This record gives sequence, structure tokens and C-alpha cells, in this order.
Amino acid sequence: MRALVLRMAREPRVRDFLTDGPGRSLARRFVAGETLEEAIGVAQALARQGARVSLDYLGEAVHDLQEAEAARSVYEETIDRLRLLDLPITLSLKPSQFGVDVAREQALALLLDVIGRAAKSGIGVRLDMEDSSHTDVTLWLWGELRREFANVGIVLQAALYRTPRDLETVLAEGGSVRLCKGAYLEPATIAYPRKADVDAAYAQLLDRLLEHAAVQPPNSYLPTAAIATHDPQLIQRAIEHIHRLGLSPDRYEFQMLYGVRRDLQESLLGRGYPLRIYTPWGPAWYPYLTRRLAERPANLTFMVGAILSEFIARRTPVQPARPVDVVRR
Ligand SMILES: Cc1cc2nc3c(=O)[nH]c(=O)nc-3n(C[C@H](O)[C@H](O)[C@H](O)COP(=O)(O)OP(=O)(O)OC[C@H]3O[C@@H](n4cnc5c(N)ncnc54)[C@H](O)[C@@H]3O)c2cc1C
Repeated sequence: MRALVLRMAREPRVRDFLTDGPGRSLARRFVAGETLEEAIGVAQALARQGARVSLDYLGEAVHDLQEAEAARSVYEETIDRLRLLDLPITLSLKPSQFGVDVAREQALALLLDVIGRAAKSGIGVRLDMEDSSHTDVTLWLWGELRREFANVGIVLQAALYRTPRDLETVLAEGGSVRLCKGAYLEPATIAYPRKADVDAAYAQLLDRLLEHAAVQPPNSYLPTAAIATHDPQLIQRAIEHIHRLGLSPDRYEFQMLYGVRRDLQESLLGRGYPLRIYTPWGPAWYPYLTRRLAERPANLTFMVGAILSEFIARRTPVQPARPVDVVRR
């Protein structure tokens, strides 16, 4: 089902249809808005509920360096804006948005600009992990960036067979890791095709990461372990392990996606666990939305509802406004 949704979403006709209307309503559930001001408004609301936030300016796989420079400008403006606010915030960046597929040295230079500026403002930054064609280059970028700045962390995906080795490499260098299952469709030659195997791999990696967090002193920007999942069993496993190890809250945090399992988010916050909400914003929301749809077929039902409502609304003739309506407005 996941593979089917991801393949269909790449079809130009499906893409045009969804970005024009019905997808937009569903996107609002997972995306904070299209402008920085909307994203900041959402971040402030989440912070009032006790959550930390990671802002992600949506965009990936740029085709030229002008687009990558534009992404840098947006992040720089974001950092300058955040510096004036007292928010528990980090940033999440996608290497392909900074042109790593076009020219990796220039992408590194752009990332250095953003991460250096964030460091001066006390803001942590994490490199998101994209599909497996980016794993090596993302680890390379992380290594180069870390040589200059301490405020940069990375993401590893439990689905990939290589991840136990990558985890050891990153931990040996004192890195901060967000552990997720992996949102991309990968071949069985490099990733577990069965969800049960991905879950089991996550559990093993999680134990290792938390044990390491118990011995690695925290970095002032990012905790050593970021547990990014909405899976209640893995969250419970993490909680039990955290208590067994006596981990202090500066060493770890839970992370969830904006709009996903808000019940679990509230429950963790209510019990006093540190929780960061990954909060994307920006006009380029389509690829992000398709990954969220593919993870949860029930989201498709929600979208079919939105398509039907729009269809009905378009077929219902709009009544001309009565004078009294105009006056009231
Ligand atoms: C903070 C954060 C950052 C991430 N960063 C990356 C990254 O850099 N690279 C990457 O490849 N992946 C990333 N992911 C995505 C991740 O890899 C998974 O694809 C996604 O989180 C779903 O996996 P899960 O661990 O929640 O477990 P699942 O077993 O997939 O889901 C557990 C439960 O969560 C709920 N749920 C999960 N997804 C959805 C959804 N889309 N809509 C509604 N309910 C849902 C359902 O109730 C489901 O039963 C990130 C996830 C999080 C939380």
C-alpha cells in the first residue's frame, strides 16, 4: 500500500489534482502554513503547551544553486526572526534542498552559512535523512559541519541494514542522533521490506542510543538521543529504558510530527517528558504530504472526504449575497 501511494503520488496528473485543491486541506493538518509568520505562530502555540519545536522549511531536490541559495536566505531570515523570540526551537534541514545533488562543495558552503548563523544565536540544527542515495553524502556533510560547529545533529533510519554501523560511527564522534524508522521507499537489498523487522531494528538501535546517552555528556544545543516515533510500543520501551538508566531530560527527547498522534503528544507532555514537534512550513508541501499519506492509509480516507466536500461545494450554486450580509461583513 505504501509503495502504491508513493508511486501514484509521483504521477503528474495526481500531483496537479492534489496541489490544486483537495490536498491543500489535508496539508493543513500536517503543515504549519505557507509563511514564516504562520510557522512562528504555530511554534508559539506549541511552546505554550510545553512542547519544543523543530522548524523545517519545506523543499527538497533543488535543480540549481539559485534555488539552494534561496533556501539559505529563508533559513537565515528564520534565524534572525527566531533570535528575537524566546522559543525552545531547533531547525531541520534537508541536504538536497541545499543543492547537494547539484554541487556538494557549494551545498556544504551554504550549510556552513546557515549553521554558523544558528550557532551564534544558540540554535541547534539537524540534518534530515533523505532517501538512501543521500545517506553517504549526508554523513559526510555532518562530519564536515561538525568540525566547525557543535550545534549540528543527524538523523538515522532504522529501516536500512547499514544503520547499526552508522550509529556507532556517529556516536564515536559524540554526535546527536534522531532515530526514525525511515519514510522512503527502499529496495529490499538495502532495507528491511517488512514493517515488523523495521520495528525490531528500531528497538535494538534505540536501546544502544539510550545507553550511549547515559555516558555522553549533553551538548548545549541538542540532546544526544532524539526518539522520533509515534509507535506506542517503542515509546513505552524507551520510557522503561530511560528510567532504568536514570537518564536526565537533557540527554534525550521524544520527537513527533506536527499533526500526528496529538493524543500521544499530549500524554507525553502531561507526564513531563521532553517532546519536540517537527513543524514544517512553506509552499512546497506536496512531497512531505505524500510521505505522510503513504505511512497511514487512513489519511487517504480523510482526503477522499475533502475531495468529496469540494466537489459538492463546487456543484452547489453560490447564493448572491443579501444586502444585510454585506453590511454585517
Ligand atoms: C520528528 C520526526 C522526524 C523525522 N525525520 C525523518 C527523516 O529525517 N528521515 C526519514 O526518513 N523519516 C523521518 N521521519 C519519519 C519516520 O521515518 C516515519 O516514516 C514516521 O515517523 C512513521 O513512523 P513511526 O515511527 O511513527 O511508526 P509507525 O509504525 O509508522 O506508526 C506508528 C503509529 O503512529 C501513527 N502514525 C504514523 N505515521 C502517521 C501519519 N503519517 N499520519 C497519521 N498517523 C501516523 C499511527 O497511529 C501508527 O500506527 C521522522 C519522524 C519524526 C517523528
